[in-house]
This record gives sequence, C-alpha cells and structure tokens, in this order.
Amino acid sequence: MNAVIHTLCWYLHSLAMEQPCLPLLGDEGGWLTAEQTEGFVEAGADLLYASGLRPGMPVLLSAGRTVNSVLALLCIQRVGAAAVLADPRQTPEQVLNSCAPPLEVPFYVKAGGSLRRPALLLTRTQDGACLNLPLASSGCTPAPAVDDPSAPAFYIFTSGSSGRKKAVILSQGNLVSNLLDSAPLGGYAEDDIALGALPLDHVFGLALLTGAIVLRHRLYLTAATAAEELLQIIAREKITRMNGVPSLYLALAKKARAGEARTLRTGYIGGAPWTAEQFRHIESALGMTLVPVYGMSECIGISCASSRAPQAERMAGVGPFYPANCGRIIREDGAQAAPGEEGEVCVRGPMRMLGYHDPAQTAQAVDGDGFLHTGDLGYVDGGGVLHLTGRKKDVIICNGVNLSPRRIEEALLSLPGVRGAVVVGLPDELQGERPWAAVCAGGTPARILDGLRALLPKNELPAGIIWVDALPMTGSGKPDKQAVKELIRQWRNA
Ligand code: AMP
Repeated sequence: MNAVIHTLCWYLHSLAMEQPCLPLLGDEGGWLTAEQTEGFVEAGADLLYASGLRPGMPVLLSAGRTVNSVLALLCIQRVGAAAVLADPRQTPEQVLNSCAPPLEVPFYVKAGGSLRRPALLLTRTQDGACLNLPLASSGCTPAPAVDDPSAPAFYIFTSGSSGRKKAVILSQGNLVSNLLDSAPLGGYAEDDIALGALPLDHVFGLALLTGAIVLRHRLYLTAATAAEELLQIIAREKITRMNGVPSLYLALAKKARAGEARTLRTGYIGGAPWTAEQFRHIESALGMTLVPVYGMSECIGISCASSRAPQAERMAGVGPFYPANCGRIIREDGAQAAPGEEGEVCVRGPMRMLGYHDPAQTAQAVDGDGFLHTGDLGYVDGGGVLHLTGRKKDVIICNGVNLSPRRIEEALLSLPGVRGAVVVGLPDELQGERPWAAVCAGGTPARILDGLRALLPKNELPAGIIWVDALPMTGSGKPDKQAVKELIRQWRNA
C-alpha cells in the first residue's frame, strides 16, 4: 500500500470542502453533514487548545456511541492530542487504573449538549475543575494545524478476555492504512450507511468511523444492544453495512423476521471464532454477505477475505494477510512454518501499533525485526488463506500434551441444542491442567456428554461442564474466558 496517509481531520476537511452537504454522522438526534461536523470539530479544537490541551498529551475520553462523542474524539485528534478511549460504563479512575502501570492524564473529556448544540465537558484532573464548552466559535486562539498521522492518537485497552488489560498506543496512520488496504476487499459502496453498534473504544468500532470519513459514507451511531432494537434501526435508517462480532450477528439472525434486514448488504465479521454452520445461518437469515476479518487492538486488521469470493471460499479461514501486512507463522522452535503447519501468527506493517503504554510489554511482544507476536495460533493454507486454530495462552497442557480449547469448543458447538460454549484450562493436581467447559444449551447434560464422547479422544473430554443461561462476554462482545474460569472456580468451591 503506497498511498499517502493523512490524519482523520485532514480527510474530514477535504470531504467538507468537496461534499459539504453529505450527511456523515447520525444518531437518534438526527444527522450532521460533513460541513457541520468539521465546523464543530474546528470550534471544539480551539476551545481544547485554549484550555491547555497540547499535541501529544493523553486525554481520557468517555467514548459513548453518539455523534457528540465522535465530535469530542475528532476535536482531540484535531489538536494532535491522544484520546485514551474509555468504556463509558466505567469511571475514569477505573479505566486509568485497569492497566499497569496506571495511566495519568491532565483532562477527562465527555460529550455534552445536544446534536444541534454539542458541547464538551472538560474536567481538569489536577484540581477537579469542570468546564462546559459549547462547540461554537469562541474567538480564542485557533488550534495550530497538525497533520502527523504517525503521532500517538489513541490509547485502546485490550479486551483482557484472557489476561490483564494492556493499553495499546495507535496512530491515525495505523487506522487509515488498514482501511485503505481493506477497502478493495470489503464491498464498500458510495451510498453505504454503516451501523455503529460496536464500542468506539475498540478498534473494530473505531474502524467504522475511519471508514465513514475516509471512504465518505454515512455512519449511524447507536448505544442500543438489543437485537430487536438494532433490527428496527437497520430497517428505519436503511443500514447497508456493519462490523460485528459473531455473537452480535447471531443475536440479529435469531430475531430477524423474513426480509427485515433486507437493506444490509455487507458486514465484516471478526473478533472471535465462529463455526461454518453459524456463518451460513447468519448469511441466510440476514440476507447479507459476511466478510471474515482477523485483527486485534495491537494491529487493527491482519487478514481479510474478499467480499466477492463465493461463500465456501469466504467461510474457509480468515482470508489472506493484508497486502501491506507482512505476516509469518512461527513454529514453537522459532523456525518459519511451511504451508499447512501450525505456529504463532506474527505480523508487521503500517497498521502495527506504536507500542504498549508499558515499554516492557512492547519489548516482549515485538521482536527485533518489528514483528508483533500476536499470541494467536494458526496456519496458512496452500492458497495463502490464514486459518486460526486457537490462542497460545489458552492452550491447555494436560499430562504434557497440548490441548486446543478451540477444538473442544467446536465439537461442543456441533452438537444439537448447543448455543454457546467456552472451554478453559484449570489446574489439576495430577495432570497439570484439564479442560473445563461452560455451555449454553437446550439439550440434557447427559446427551451432550455422550455426543462429545463420540467426537473427541478421552484426554480432550472436559473434566466438568457447567450449564449457563448466557456466556459471560467482554464489553466488545467476545466470550470472557477469565469470567468463565471464575464461574467454574465458584461452582467447584460451592
Ligand atoms: P482484541 O485486541 O481485544 O480485539 O482481541 C483480539 C483477539 O481476538 C485476537 O488476538 C484473536 O485471538 C481474536 N480474534 C480476532 N479476530 C478473530 C477471528 N476472525 N477469528 C477468531 N478470533 C479472532
């Protein structure tokens, strides 16, 4: 990918100049055009600058899924500061202390006002002073123009689904280069209206905003999470594309009445594994084309299938590595794996993070050649398609043998009546570790265990299965393995 990369505000400016009336950002309050968006962002950046925010400063943003939150994010970007993207359900202190070493920021920013009169609520952490800054021309010194796409721009917290959260530092260039690589594959169209139903403090949600500004299409933001409500929004706003984790698509597919989601054309699916049956079910229930993507906070997008490929091809694996991404599979002995051979997925390229907030974590994850060791296991087939097989840190070592929780989960999910399954390893006095499962199922426990015996060798059979109504999920909708371990521990101790 050789295109010149700019900042989001640079793309917003050129969009506002060339297509000022394009409705760009919408929510339940209505739509803002590109020109209105830029006007508010310019006014807000001047106010933030006058309040003491400077390029490079980290500032905490409570990242709600509203137009005003996006405006606040763009104001921070326009100043050249870095937005520490926080889950709006958490207090600033919880967010900042959730990673080690804790982050320190001079300001907290929250969106205020209404769509027509947006405002920034700014809290100075030093003395707790709170300012309400309506995004209107203030006559204060304009924030100097900055267009450095390689500067730190976002702090994102990894979902921590299998360990403690890490703060990942990304540049705007990381996001934009990923988008430009994915654009030819992703089935984008000029008249797209994207659904922003994913957290904006996660790269998959942030990618939607980048897509709208750089590829010039509408983005409708909503905090709704219930499938019925999202389906109503899809129909009302004529949504054509979305990004989603498998659990979100499955919830929509379960509730969609025939033809209800007929405007939906394309959606990136990623963030967690799915089965072939689930993939087929989602496509047929929603009448849309799913495009598998694989990515992570540390490297936004790593691989992507093509929206133009037939279903069978799309369904197999998570597509080839992005052209700009140089990917390798490294075996346990450090050698590069041959096609079909399993190893750790390692990537370098323009979408790789600048680093973690903790340099020691960066040194551990990025090798001397600049390759990020993702911790994910997989192989590349003869056709260059990447297949994920599990996560290195999730591997269960039972009597010295490596067991793949993903394989056991797939076996469980293939059984009739099983709606969800998560397998984790727990310490075992005799065997080191053993697999345990949390299962969400309609059938009887005995039938499911019988079914599993027919599919798996003895050492892969779970030591125990707990039955849950719903699997615990992280904020971004992925199965939360830490919470599952805790549930099983409580159940064993009860
Ligand atoms: P996060 O950084 O919180 O977005 O989590 C990234 C992790 O999600 C990756 O390291 C993978 O383990 C997992 N993941 C992402 N995309 C996929 C996918 N398409 N299939 C399976 N797992 C995925």
